[in-house]
Amino acid sequence: LIQLFIPLNALGFVYREIRQALVNVERLFALLGDKPAIEDAPDAQPLRVSRGEVCFDRVHFGYRPDRPILTDVSFRIPAGHTVAVVGASGAGKSTLARLLFRFFDVDAGAIRIDDQDLRSVTQDSLRAAIGVVPQDTVLFNDTLYRNLAYGRPEATEAEVHRAARLAHLEEFIHSLPEGYETRVGERGLKLSGGEKQRVAIARVILKNPPLLILDEATSSLDSLSEQAILGALGEVSRERTTLVIAHRLSTVRDANTIIVLDRGRVVESGQHHSLLARDGHYARLWHQQHRPSAVDTPDGPELSPD
Ligand code: ATP
Repeated sequence: LIQLFIPLNALGFVYREIRQALVNVERLFALLGDKPAIEDAPDAQPLRVSRGEVCFDRVHFGYRPDRPILTDVSFRIPAGHTVAVVGASGAGKSTLARLLFRFFDVDAGAIRIDDQDLRSVTQDSLRAAIGVVPQDTVLFNDTLYRNLAYGRPEATEAEVHRAARLAHLEEFIHSLPEGYETRVGERGLKLSGGEKQRVAIARVILKNPPLLILDEATSSLDSLSEQAILGALGEVSRERTTLVIAHRLSTVRDANTIIVLDRGRVVESGQHHSLLARDGHYARLWHQQHRPSAVDTPDGPELSPD
């Protein structure tokens, strides 16, 4: 009974969290961690984003003291640039995103946005400045319109429609008999992974944050959905400082810089062609993904350990 109770209780909490607060759906990720909740420092100040530069400075982190996950990770995302992180499953890619969102604090080193240490700013201001396109978007049992407007509930109808258009959702919405009034979520129309991700992109377009985390879907999409997602992602990441967590390599080629993580360490960084030419870790991941048999796997060409 206890075993049954705990998950149901947790689900109840998640549900209340969504219904009541309607704050940041991304906050739900915080429930996944082992570490105690992060608190604001007594003298925490609101984050002031001027340029929008992100800096990971010799970051060390483990969910548990006996198991380091990230070791001495340093990189910079200049304002408006896109950095994509690649690496085998479990290398620590999503952990970087969780740290930037400050679900956890680093054990050593620092993460800074425009020279402000994340530990010195309020969490609300930090999370207001970052948009997240998660792998699996939460949809509420409500209309598609309200699910989109969740990105900024006070948005006008014209703004919601514009966001849907930029997120390459308009054609899909027009194909539904009830259009924007279609009920979605558990009790309504089930959206595909790609459609849900585009809802998340529309929400981010409405939220209009200076910084962005894209957690690329792990499962493969058909090539039409993939093109639509890539178009929408290009739109949303333009002129925003963007961290892409690339479980596959489809969004990586256009990144300003690619960072290769191997067991929590940065082992290579650079652009697609120069990394391929180095014939190192990145080249191995790339060839692994693009060998003929990888294309045929049910999950598509996902990165996996060697
Ligand atoms: P994938 O591409 O498979 O999503 P990843 O590179 O994003 O992998 P992470 O999710 O960052 O990998 O996980 C890195 C390591 O940290 C993994 O070994 C994982 O088991 C561990 N880990 C992740 N989340 C937690 C957590 N909340 N508590 C404890 N360990 C965790």
